[in-house]
Amino acid sequence: MTDRRSHVFYRDLKTEYPLAVAGEGVWIVDSEGRRYLDASGGAAVSCLGHCHPRIVKAIRDQAGKLEFAHTAFFTSEPAEELAERLVRAAPDGFTRVYFVSGGSEANEAALKLARQVHVERGESHRIYAISRLQSYHGNTIGALSLGGNPARRALFEPLLGLPVAHVDPCYAYRHQGAHESEEDYGVRAARSLEEKILELGPENVSCFFAETVVGATAGAVPPAPGYFREIRRICDRYGVLMVLDEVMCGMGRTGTLFACEQEDVVPDIITVAKGLGAGHQSIGAVLARFPLVDAIERNGVFQHGHTYIGHAIACAAALEVQRVIEDEGLLERVSEAGETFARRLESAFGQNPHVGDIRGRGYFRAIELVADRESKQPFPRKAGLAAKIKARAMAAGLVCYPGNGTADGEHGDHVLLAPPFIASDEELDTIVEFLAGAVEGALGEVAA
Ligand code: PMP
Repeated sequence: MTDRRSHVFYRDLKTEYPLAVAGEGVWIVDSEGRRYLDASGGAAVSCLGHCHPRIVKAIRDQAGKLEFAHTAFFTSEPAEELAERLVRAAPDGFTRVYFVSGGSEANEAALKLARQVHVERGESHRIYAISRLQSYHGNTIGALSLGGNPARRALFEPLLGLPVAHVDPCYAYRHQGAHESEEDYGVRAARSLEEKILELGPENVSCFFAETVVGATAGAVPPAPGYFREIRRICDRYGVLMVLDEVMCGMGRTGTLFACEQEDVVPDIITVAKGLGAGHQSIGAVLARFPLVDAIERNGVFQHGHTYIGHAIACAAALEVQRVIEDEGLLERVSEAGETFARRLESAFGQNPHVGDIRGRGYFRAIELVADRESKQPFPRKAGLAAKIKARAMAAGLVCYPGNGTADGEHGDHVLLAPPFIASDEELDTIVEFLAGAVEGALGEVAA
């Protein structure tokens, strides 16, 4: 740390952040020459590591050719090519892609798209969006209204005026009954959506939002088997649009380009961001199935837009990210090495009396920490375990992504790992080793 005085402010105004000056593959280097292994890709963003030469070149090339042409007047080659690629890779029936600058914007656009589709179809009474308790879908007012995270919402509650309702999350470690199968639990968790739709009146409900694999709020929580198939059935039954937020878990993070490919369901809308631009550019996208776009096409105008949608340099970077993923077989690498990574986490933490759960898919993994493994009782929030792990990890040269849930006692502190897809086996070992040290040290402080 230096004694410089910052005029920039981020989330934590009391922290003096190290000054990051260079990125080299999976490493970030600060102004004092310290190296940090980026085991979370920031927040599941940097899927190709930092300063990937091919992405840097694509950005340079596009900047020298055409940096930006406003979408009120033009489309651009990289936007067209990227959309074509995404549509080809997406589940059946996806025909259109709307490019934005990040995850919150993607979810805002999806909310508005769902709303407009219902209006175009003559069902303007469909105003409610439903999401899950504890969920996070972004920090802009619309996306925050949608989310079910009390801690993030509290300060802004009076401003969160959207008609939104919340239903149960799908979180087997915490909520599956002792004598209940995973499948039965999945169906039970999904049924809370049906109950809510019936309570609100099915004719009033616009859409249901969920993360396919939950990211930041609880740490790489996969759905129970069959959960999303039941959600699909319910949405179909009541004409509710199913939106999967894959801002964090999409774009290859779980071993398939779209996480929902592993769930045997086709949603109506998918939102992506983070890994789409791999941190080299800020870009997000909304993918929509044909019937939705068709409803709007008849009138011809989607009532939405920002200045920087479809930005040519951002699209060129994201297009090259897709090519690198394909050329280097990175989806296969993530699914295979993801299993090895999981086994390494299991051998490092499986016997730890304070690690209650080790979970995730591909390169999207987490451990959940508890005071008592039997009762799954979390450490009190004020113990600050997650923050202590983060500080120790940073001191050891590891960037990981710890969190401590949404409310005291709801669930334990967790640490999310989302390494770059290019991480070598040795780097995965180093991540586990550094994390084990940080967790042990932090537990020593709080469990003493
Ligand atoms: N949805 C999910 C699932 C996310 O994880 C995030 C970011 N953590 C967002 C939406 C918001 O994305 P952004 O920060 O790019 O606005």
